[in-house]
Amino acid sequence: MTLKQRESLAEVLHGRRAVLARRLHEQRERVASGRHDLGDPVDLALEEIERGTDELLMELERRELHRLVEAERLLVEGRLGVCRRCGADIDPRRLAVRPESALCVDCAAELEQTKNLH
Ligand SMILES: [Zn+2]
Repeated sequence: MTLKQRESLAEVLHGRRAVLARRLHEQRERVASGRHDLGDPVDLALEEIERGTDELLMELERRELHRLVEAERLLVEGRLGVCRRCGADIDPRRLAVRPESALCVDCAAELEQTKNLH
């Protein structure tokens, strides 16, 4: 990976992490402020569903945030863009789309296949 590619990847990662962190923060506040006595069972049920969706979303975003932080760490260590499984260089075009990709296209496809067999 060239220095320029690394710099632009670092920017992409940082930008996405900032957006995610802000969204998580907002959701956490919304969930916290939603805990008031509504009284009405329908409102209560609706709120329950909404909160469940929020928490699921937060969980997914927390995981993505974790992947981004991990990718940033690898980038700093100069290990981002190297397949975690076979050590091959990961296509920079793939990294541009999914900077947190830890596997090259071949390994990702192979793993996907094994997963589908089970
Ligand atoms: Zn690989």
